[in-house]
Amino acid sequence: MSKPGTAHVASYYAASANPSPERPALQGEVQCDVCVVGAGFTGMSAALHLAEKGHRVVVLEAARIGFGASGRNGGQIVNSYSRDMDVIESRYGSETARALGDMAFEGNRIIRERIARYDIACDLKEGNLFAACNTKQMKALSEHKALWERFGNDQLELLEGQAYRREIGSERYVGALLDHSGGHLHPLNLVLGQAAALESLGGRIYEQTPVTSIEHGEPVRLHTPEGWVVADRVVLAGNAYMKGLMPQLEGKSMPASTQVVTTEPLDAATAKDILPTDRAVEDCNYLLDYYRLSGDRRLIYGGGVSYGGQDPNSIEGVIRPKLETTFPQLKGVKIDYAWSGTFLLTLNRLPQFGRINANVYYAQGYSGHGVTCSHLAGRLIAEVLDGQSERFDAFAGLPHLPFPGGRTLSVPLTTLGAWYYRVRDALGV
Ligand SMILES: Cc1cc2nc3c(=O)[nH]c(=O)nc-3n(C[C@H](O)[C@H](O)[C@H](O)COP(=O)(O)OP(=O)(O)OC[C@H]3O[C@@H](n4cnc5c(N)ncnc54)[C@H](O)[C@@H]3O)c2cc1C
Repeated sequence: MSKPGTAHVASYYAASANPSPERPALQGEVQCDVCVVGAGFTGMSAALHLAEKGHRVVVLEAARIGFGASGRNGGQIVNSYSRDMDVIESRYGSETARALGDMAFEGNRIIRERIARYDIACDLKEGNLFAACNTKQMKALSEHKALWERFGNDQLELLEGQAYRREIGSERYVGALLDHSGGHLHPLNLVLGQAAALESLGGRIYEQTPVTSIEHGEPVRLHTPEGWVVADRVVLAGNAYMKGLMPQLEGKSMPASTQVVTTEPLDAATAKDILPTDRAVEDCNYLLDYYRLSGDRRLIYGGGVSYGGQDPNSIEGVIRPKLETTFPQLKGVKIDYAWSGTFLLTLNRLPQFGRINANVYYAQGYSGHGVTCSHLAGRLIAEVLDGQSERFDAFAGLPHLPFPGGRTLSVPLTTLGAWYYRVRDALGV
């Protein structure tokens, strides 16, 4: 029986999750080499990489495995980061851009390695598209292609003019960029599969076990409602759902929520009409729409952002008009599931990696594109805990910028900013 507020959100993913036992809550004292806080992609990737290297790992999860963004996202395997390398290069120099560029496609590879090695059933499908709503976005996609090719992605195909129609049955776009190396999957099943893999290597997971405070020192003590963990090292991977454990960073990021709906299963002809090649799509707007077909041919459609993490009154009311604008042929389609999830935004849209002390590490703030980067983060945390800090430090050296006015004032300011971008998206400028 889940404690109130700790069950998975009532999503399509929860309804179609692979069987996974409920893990016990922590009681009494447990000792380990590394304690990971948060069982999302970041925490589970770190834990699994560490267990593979022989560390004794304990994961503490406030709710259920995949309760946060990792178990409720769009499931799109999008390469690279939420800011591209040209911006990273111009702001932070060519050395940083080269280091991050060399890792831009690694998170994607890690996911595929995990799925193959541990035989994780999560409806993996190939290819994702970036769809341009206007000619300015199309020009940016062509530049984007050249940039990613410079960093080694030779799987890109620019679909100019109406060529995109072989991929997307919508008149909304002027072209698209297809990344054959991207893809999409059932994210909750991916994280549940990694949890089982961790346990097969001796790792322990406690659910419904929120860390309420941390006593820093050597070792570190992590307090939970009915017990505590004594750990040599700690990984904080609570992202947007974590409060109070890293107060020094809270003014430097902002939770933002985005909404997703899932239709009833579509008949084969309708599915083929809207997404003939079964790839994932996101448009190029600042406030973007993203969609794909599930393993059982439902349309999973996301969009909308509300800052501060509050949910709108009617998720279907927000998403249905977007869905029907993209696919008028689906007017009136039955929506079976609607939910919301929270991700963590940073001001420069680059992830925040770092150390609080010599033995407490964190990674967070993927700013909307975290499926691949969270998996990379886990590997880099495992590397740094094993004494190889170079790749972790390439990220840790990026500045963590404060939001103007801290978290409270930044919500209205960012909402104002979002309104500005909504107008720009609408005008195509
Ligand atoms: C609706 C939605 C759609 C998205 N779509 C995509 C997409 O299609 N592609 C993409 O690349 N990215 C997408 N993202 C972003 C992506 O899902 C996230 O960047 C990524 O999942 C973050 O993983 P995480 O493990 O860092 O955080 P989370 O998955 O949020 O996990 C954090 C976990 O920590 C736990 N926790 C927090 N505090 C404590 C505590 N004190 N003690 C113990 N446990 C704690 C939480 O309960 C939670 O389970 C989307 C996000 C959302 C919300």
